[in-house]
Amino acid sequence: MPDVLLSPAHEDLRRRVRDVRDREMVPFIARRGWDRALSAGELKALLRMTQPVGYPSAVVPKDDGGAGLDYLSLGVLVEELAPVLGFVAAHVVPRQIAMLGSPAQKRRYLPALLSVEHLSTTAITEPGVGSDAGAIAMTARRAGDRYVLDGTKAWLTIGTLAEVVTVLVSTDPARGSRGLSRIIVDMDHARLASTTYTTLGDRLLPFAEVTFSGYEVPVENRLGEEGEGLRMTLRAIQASRASMASHAVGLAQAAVDAAIAYAKERQQFGKPIGSFQLVQGSIADMIAETEAARLLANRVWTLLDRGEECAREASIAKFYATEAAVRVTSKAIQVHGAYGVSDRYPVERLFRDARMLTFPDGTSEVHRLLVGRAALGLDAFR
Ligand SMILES: Cc1cc2nc3c(=O)[nH]c(=O)nc-3n(C[C@H](O)[C@H](O)[C@H](O)COP(=O)(O)OP(=O)(O)OC[C@H]3O[C@@H](n4cnc5c(N)ncnc54)[C@H](O)[C@@H]3O)c2cc1C
Repeated sequence: MPDVLLSPAHEDLRRRVRDVRDREMVPFIARRGWDRALSAGELKALLRMTQPVGYPSAVVPKDDGGAGLDYLSLGVLVEELAPVLGFVAAHVVPRQIAMLGSPAQKRRYLPALLSVEHLSTTAITEPGVGSDAGAIAMTARRAGDRYVLDGTKAWLTIGTLAEVVTVLVSTDPARGSRGLSRIIVDMDHARLASTTYTTLGDRLLPFAEVTFSGYEVPVENRLGEEGEGLRMTLRAIQASRASMASHAVGLAQAAVDAAIAYAKERQQFGKPIGSFQLVQGSIADMIAETEAARLLANRVWTLLDRGEECAREASIAKFYATEAAVRVTSKAIQVHGAYGVSDRYPVERLFRDARMLTFPDGTSEVHRLLVGRAALGLDAFR
């Protein structure tokens, strides 16, 4: 059933993306295994496979060397690609530099990022700073025409692979959240101390904690003015939240498809398990939740295309879709019986990957509080 918010051109893009995913990306990953972190070379090879369909330069304007697609197209790309390569939903730096960077920063960084010569990620979270991003402790001290970075960042997606990272730091600790700045950092991994986490899902991606000690960066690498870091982060964040929602929709849809196929093929009591009413009811619930989540995600992409404010809608989409994906993938495991928790079928991986999504770009609780604040005019945070 075509999505009412998508045009025939978007549906055509969906078909082309699926073709690349199933013909090139899935066999590539299956050959090396789903449970081990990708090398930089492997991740670059996978991202290059997506270039003919407009990723990773998607919504970066053509004038900046991008594909100049609309946001709904980015939603389609993320929904179809992220279930096999979660990084696609978290890959924001090219878009961020195109949106927030100076002409010189765009000239310096975008060509290598868009051609996937370089990989990139963002660094906000710290070991002691999660939801309260205004409390960032990592400092960038000005020393002539350089900043000297000191502190530890946590949970960097592909943190050990990225050549470029946009880091949120405090350039003026006395000013608290108004003293934060965003800086583009060229990562010389030989001079950085990193450790990776072992995670429940998204095992293709190394998530890292990275420590910067006396790490120098030119002042010209700052995005925007000093003290604007948090405001700039929030400006670019609605597309990130919509990406998380579309990623969740893609996982949920894959679980629905797997459950339907299994329910038709698996026989018990002399007939397909899909003929039992409880199984059909469960599949109907999975379909309804997945389609509701898709509509919510695509509403955000539509509002972004229209240049309209969508913070409230992005919060609703983010928490609803990511939690729906956890429920839907869990139900898909149930439909598969014991085989659902084995690696013979994809649903256990889909569940583990979905469970990763209720934290990044704002936890479910934080998004509920943002929606509650918009409804009630009362701020639970302060
Ligand atoms: C898959 C994945 C990828 C990530 N990628 C990145 C990345 O690339 N870069 C990066 O910087 N970070 C990344 N993160 C980190 C992510 O941004 C943080 O997990 C998130 O900000 C929440 O912080 P926390 O996990 O420390 O939880 P905390 O903020 O410590 O929260 C712990 C619990 O308390 C709840 N809580 C906190 N405050 C409140 C409140 N006021 N009211 C009610 N409940 C509250 C939370 O909802 C949560 O349930 C990633 C995380 C994951 C899981």
